[in-house]
Amino acid sequence: MSSIELVGLTKRFGDLIAVKDLDLMIEDKEFVAILGPSGCGKTTTMNMIAGIEHPTAGQVLFDGVEVQNVSARRRGVGFVFQNYAIFTHISVYKNLSFGLEVTGVPAGEIERRVADMAKLVRLTHRLEWRSSRLNVNELQRLALGRSAILGPQIFLLDEPLSNLDAAFRAEMRTELKHLQHQLQQTMVYVTHDQLEAMSMADHIAIMDLGVLQQFGTPLEVYNKPANLFVANFMGSPSMNLLPCRITDEGGEVVLDFGAGGRLMVEDESLLALCKKAARQDLVYGVRPENVTLRRGEKEGRGLSLGVNFVERIGARSIVHLGETDHEIKVLEGNQSPTKVGETLDAVAHAGASHLFDAQTGVAIR
Ligand code: ATP
Repeated sequence: MSSIELVGLTKRFGDLIAVKDLDLMIEDKEFVAILGPSGCGKTTTMNMIAGIEHPTAGQVLFDGVEVQNVSARRRGVGFVFQNYAIFTHISVYKNLSFGLEVTGVPAGEIERRVADMAKLVRLTHRLEWRSSRLNVNELQRLALGRSAILGPQIFLLDEPLSNLDAAFRAEMRTELKHLQHQLQQTMVYVTHDQLEAMSMADHIAIMDLGVLQQFGTPLEVYNKPANLFVANFMGSPSMNLLPCRITDEGGEVVLDFGAGGRLMVEDESLLALCKKAARQDLVYGVRPENVTLRRGEKEGRGLSLGVNFVERIGARSIVHLGETDHEIKVLEGNQSPTKVGETLDAVAHAGASHLFDAQTGVAIR
């Protein structure tokens, strides 16, 4: 058993607040990603869980027990970092067995555990090799194996895939998830890559400027972003976010996008959001995959915009429309007939629109 609870966790470096009042509950055997841009406090949070960094305020609890006075070495935590720090002058076998040897595990058991771990990280055929001969993908798997073989209940991974090229990263995402299922450990995974977080984590904690923005399952944070930061950060291409004002035109609710046009609000769920808006100044959001481009729609049914660019990305095309302040992206199939220079009506799918308070950035629910 190893749940991790962070309560009011805060870290200051002089005047800088690297992590501010963070509350987080990571259940036993969960895979949680801490996601955010560079400098948002991910590594500092991880270091406080590990006991490398002492919090300025707040608590870290493992299974409900505060670990403030437990040294990093005695917390039973395994690490894998971006720079895998493998002993390259010794064999793969020795890298795996080393940690067990220094803790006095009997020889027979070491052999068995090394064989099991080598199989799990697919390095059985490399055991006798000097580690310097491994490629980066194998080195990263060895780093995982070397840490995992000690059986830590908590596994912390800090950007472990960022040195790998795109193809290996995709492969390792699947492998890591598989490994976590096998090892039954609580995993905390730091990344700035939303795709890694989305594809592997049970829950994602999204941070910005040291502050937790949202904690939820990948689909929750993608489909129901709590604020503009999360809406913009999750998804590629990112959500279309357009400043607008809400107006009443003879009893009809209308979103006014200025030079971007007007939208008569007919969609029931968007209408419900509009009614909850406390202010007139809003930001309208819709994901590129939730917009259809049509020709000759009735005025106000969609936003009539000019096509600037059609970006072919293999399976899909990203169509870019509109001007600076009300530029939008729409995902179409790779056979998209859309052409630069056309004027089309961008119509959002029913139930797919978001509204945010322009001043606070908070999503209206
Ligand atoms: P990255 O992805 O770039 O590693 P991060 O999200 O992990 O970023 P942290 O490394 O936790 O962010 O840093 C958070 C903030 O705290 C940053 O502004 C960083 O410069 C600052 N910081 C981190 N460690 C220290 C330190 N030892 N002394 C002073 N400032 C620090």
